[in-house]
Amino acid sequence: ADIALNAAKAKELSASIYEQGSEEKHLHQIRLVDDLKIAISEDQLTMFYQPKVDLHQKRVTQVESLIRWFHPELGFIAPDEFIGLAEQSGLMPSLSRWVIRNVLNDCMDWKSQGFELVMAVNISAYDLAHDDLPDYVFGLLKELKLKPDDLILEVTESAVMQDPKQALMILTRFREQGIKLAIDDYGTGYSSLSQLKSLPVDELKIDMSFVLKLDQNKDDQAIVQSTIEMGHCLGLNIVAEGVESRESWALLEGYGCDKLQGYYISKPQNSANFIQWFKDYDVVNEYSQELS
Ligand code: C2E
Ligand code: MG
Ligand code: MG
Ligand code: MG
Repeated sequence: ADIALNAAKAKELSASIYEQGSEEKHLHQIRLVDDLKIAISEDQLTMFYQPKVDLHQKRVTQVESLIRWFHPELGFIAPDEFIGLAEQSGLMPSLSRWVIRNVLNDCMDWKSQGFELVMAVNISAYDLAHDDLPDYVFGLLKELKLKPDDLILEVTESAVMQDPKQALMILTRFREQGIKLAIDDYGTGYSSLSQLKSLPVDELKIDMSFVLKLDQNKDDQAIVQSTIEMGHCLGLNIVAEGVESRESWALLEGYGCDKLQGYYISKPQNSANFIQWFKDYDVVNEYSQELS
């Protein structure tokens, strides 16, 4: 509740800043870039975790890591507000490394407590445009004694489309080592499924803009159902993100969707709260309770 409140406050604050005009906006962004440098070294960043439910196995098999920045003065700042700035200002290499190290540490920690979960990590267009992330990840997996298939990297469709050839090269290096790959926000980035098929991809995440109102919108239903069918024909695992209702869950299950993610299942939460939630969560029970 605290976080939601802070988020609302931060939104209000940044909305008022943006309304003041482009110069103020620019100054605000410069401040954020400066502050982000400090944030990386001073523990203002933390990772939150949101589960993906596997509908075939009826359990949580994967968890997506999502970065959170709690600014000492400005409160919560959403990743969509600072990831782009980090990309433009050259901070992305250190941010991505910070994320991957923290996330793999948590993964190792959970394993030692007996929780086996595949960790999904978002990587950005910047990471695809530069050649040095794969070796960093391989080195870290070795250091922490984790397996490549403990990890799935999520890259947005639009990040791939910025330079498909370069993206293919980087993604292939990850894939050759056994790291799985997901296309995030699918359906918003102007690629075709056949283009995607030329990438070494395992999982397709249908963008939440098609899923949020699935229970009310016939067009979304047609788009989602046919995307699932085409994806399956191409041998891809399909994930729906933005599942917010029991009705959407039921529709997606009917379409044969493989995995679900969304507030209806769980919001992103910090590591300790996520593990507590994970211990208590029972897909079959939760769902049938809601249905009855
Ligand atoms: P994404 O990877 O597509 O993540 C999904 C976003 O939707 C997350 O927002 C998540 O909190 C939110 N979400 C999940 N379920 C629901 C739902 O049922 N309803 C609604 N309305 N929203 C839902 P978040 O955490 O603000 O992240 C936004 C984006 O920022 C991410 O989109 C991802 O592209 C980027 N991002 C987040 N963490 C990282 C990171 O560690 N590294 C990089 N490079 N990018 C990140
Ligand atoms: Mg993602
Ligand atoms: Mg997404
Ligand atoms: Mg997104």
